[in-house]
Amino acid sequence: MKKSILIVLLVTLWHQCFCWGFYAHKRINNYAVFLLPPEMLVLYKPYIDFITTHAVDPDMRRYAVSAEGARHYIDLDHYGEFPFQSLPRRWNEAATKFSEDTLQTYGIVPWWIQVMLNRLTEAFKEKDQAKILKLSSELGHYVADAHVPLHANSNHNGQYTNQQGIHGFWESRVPELLAEKEWDFFIGKAEYIKDPTNFVWQRVLESAVAADTALRFEKELSAQFAGDQKFSFENRNGITVRQYSSSFTIAYDLKLKGMVERRMRMAIFSVASLWYTAWVNAGEPDLTKLLNKEFSVDDVREFENLNNAWKSAEIKGRNHDN
Ligand SMILES: [Zn+2]
Repeated sequence: MKKSILIVLLVTLWHQCFCWGFYAHKRINNYAVFLLPPEMLVLYKPYIDFITTHAVDPDMRRYAVSAEGARHYIDLDHYGEFPFQSLPRRWNEAATKFSEDTLQTYGIVPWWIQVMLNRLTEAFKEKDQAKILKLSSELGHYVADAHVPLHANSNHNGQYTNQQGIHGFWESRVPELLAEKEWDFFIGKAEYIKDPTNFVWQRVLESAVAADTALRFEKELSAQFAGDQKFSFENRNGITVRQYSSSFTIAYDLKLKGMVERRMRMAIFSVASLWYTAWVNAGEPDLTKLLNKEFSVDDVREFENLNNAWKSAEIKGRNHDN
């Protein structure tokens, strides 16, 4: 009995650790490829498996590098009330006002996206294929995280309101149950973003507003569900997994009126549009004539290390279970 409780706990924790869940991150990068113009598809389509698989590298890096965690979220409520005007949108001004340590403590996702966007733009200018693919995959991850409401709020796993587990529920359980069968991912085309800083802040502010709703609705719905209806036990490969029941998940999605689907669609659009913007700002290089097509020994080693760190280690820095 004790052993099975432990397994249930471990699997539940494992499930809650990741931003958007591995499933949704991979879908977002994958779908984003199809929004690109033909001049970019010549590179992204043949490498779509790479871009899909490596969508989760930044989460795996959280097991290897302690500074990684802060790049995935921002606790906007720490800076007062919406629209958090006391927080300057530019890094230097924000760091002068609040100190770099404070910014790191409460998360830096909107600024980190800018760093990754600049790096990707440089990679396009250098016509460096290995870098373009690696940075596109990773930029996609951070952009997707910025669309998750609970990545913009300090009550990120409902830990202050007795709603532990809501993080993985919103970003993993809901899409895993509904995305494939119910949701529409026909999104149209990537667009050029004139002001990426402003664009990313708009997305993060939308997330912050949605966080209150995501938390409140889960609480209201929980009051209507008995404990044995809210959760169900499922056997997966011989392991008993406790998870939010299908009926609770569907009821939550209905109450949210498609919020998770909307944020996922917006994430796909944003990822594709920022890839496109980096390429345009680099002067629209011909992607059939790139250099450095092989990943370096260091790149390959890093991919392996990330995988190993993820398989064997504890998460470094903040995770979503505390
Ligand atoms: Zn993440």
